[in-house]
Amino acid sequence: MPELPEVETVRRGLEHHIVGRTISAVCVLHPRAVRRQPAGPAEFESALTGRSLDTARRRGKYLWLSAGEDALLAHLGMSGQLLVGEPGRPLSPHVRIWFTFKDEGPDLRFTDQRTFGHMCVVRDGAELPAPIAHIAPDPFEGAFDPGAFARRLRARRTGVKRALLDQSLVSGIGNIYADEALWRARLHWARPTETLNGLEVSRLLAAVRDVLGAALAVGGTSFDDLYVNVNGESGYFDRSLAVYGREGLGCPRCGTPVRRDPFMNRSAYSCPRCQPRPRRGRW
Ligand SMILES: [Zn+2]
Repeated sequence: MPELPEVETVRRGLEHHIVGRTISAVCVLHPRAVRRQPAGPAEFESALTGRSLDTARRRGKYLWLSAGEDALLAHLGMSGQLLVGEPGRPLSPHVRIWFTFKDEGPDLRFTDQRTFGHMCVVRDGAELPAPIAHIAPDPFEGAFDPGAFARRLRARRTGVKRALLDQSLVSGIGNIYADEALWRARLHWARPTETLNGLEVSRLLAAVRDVLGAALAVGGTSFDDLYVNVNGESGYFDRSLAVYGREGLGCPRCGTPVRRDPFMNRSAYSCPRCQPRPRRGRW
């Protein structure tokens, strides 16, 4: 699942290649891609045809292009890609929505092998689309309040990794960057949030910002070929991962083999020495 750095990389590409242009035609090639559109593909297409796209914005793992007061909202799901390219290139069988522009320049193709991603038009959603208003700001947004985050984190009374993945507390962090941030902050993933002191919360937040920022600087992490920017290129933060996906390999700080624990049908990776198990963990 793409996390903040991968989605922000796509947002920047849209800002560069798509913002300021006017859509000439929209073609929904697979209705599942617009399943959240109340009246279906025809409504989606007619709401966007002829519209100018003004800004590219993001909250957490969602991004949207504003068109006047309205928003074209996108979630990439597991395998969604927004690809910009020459309009004459062959149409891959995984293209779900195809946008062409009045200037006859590069087109935009929403491509999604596993069809968990989706797009929809949200009326009056330019500032913040209603379907994502419950999602908390991410740690880079001006609206993010570190004091409020610390209070709400402790009040969750859950394991700290579970809290980091909760998009109503803080958005943009998934399995990969949660493990990496916890390693950087030397906190075990099952640490009960109510036992974190102020210093530990500050350390954690700094680690989250560091790891997301470092990943963004290199275009994100690519575990398979699916996480790509609008030009189809992969990021390379996977080379900088300390613990995620590295079971049995040495911790970059102390050399102790990285441990993998089952966690919410997935995994949690940690260093047994740098991130000691809490006495009463919330697993
Ligand atoms: Zn270590």
